[in-house]
Amino acid sequence: MVVNEIFYSLQGEGLLAGTPSVFIRLAGCPLQCKWCDTKYAWDANEGEELPVSEIVNRIVQWPSRYVVITGGEPMVNPQLPDLARALKERNKHITIETAGIKFVAGLACDLMSVSPKLSNSGQKIKTAPLRQQGSPRLRSGQAGQADPFSSIRQLIRRYPYQLKFVVDSPDDLPEIQQAVEQIGGVSAEKVMLMPQAKKRDELIAKSPMVAQLCKEAGYVFCQRLHILLYDGMKGK
Ligand code: SF4
Repeated sequence: MVVNEIFYSLQGEGLLAGTPSVFIRLAGCPLQCKWCDTKYAWDANEGEELPVSEIVNRIVQWPSRYVVITGGEPMVNPQLPDLARALKERNKHITIETAGIKFVAGLACDLMSVSPKLSNSGQKIKTAPLRQQGSPRLRSGQAGQADPFSSIRQLIRRYPYQLKFVVDSPDDLPEIQQAVEQIGGVSAEKVMLMPQAKKRDELIAKSPMVAQLCKEAGYVFCQRLHILLYDGMKGK
């Protein structure tokens, strides 16, 4: 599989923030989020072609059992199940970072870290209006359109999970709440809001706004330690 980069750092986001972890960044992502901070991993050929055994050999040099498989978008890589299985055979704790665009069954995965991409990413995925009594969940204008959250729904039912939403402005909150409602069965304490930022100054400036939204909605504030500590430097 094509690996864009492998590096050792602290998990910057989510329930395991602060945990020393080895990151395996797989190459390739079919989305093009406008605020993506890993555009260098979009190209599925951008990296080193490595067999799973060599990836495992490289990551065991570091003194942590926590491994994060990220991208790009790992779920579209056909060899992801093989990699996860090989890591689990080495007793690694596996987090998979995904936008939730595809469900893959039977993965060795301890934490499915799903970051749904909403309109502030520039993606076409839209939430439907909240269901009203006696009416279908999707509005008639979306008849025949695939449910945009079906993969996410399957992922969170099958795997331990967290849902991380990128927040650019207070206007994003209604769309996030609508998405959570439409996904259904989501525990509020697993919904995390994180400031949209690539640099430390931007992160610090937007954090109070996101903290306020978390207090209003009962969601969890998601730190982005890698930006705070390393100012968004690649490989950190
Ligand atoms: S899904 Fe992730 S890697 Fe892909 S474009 Fe969006 S932010 Fe970047």
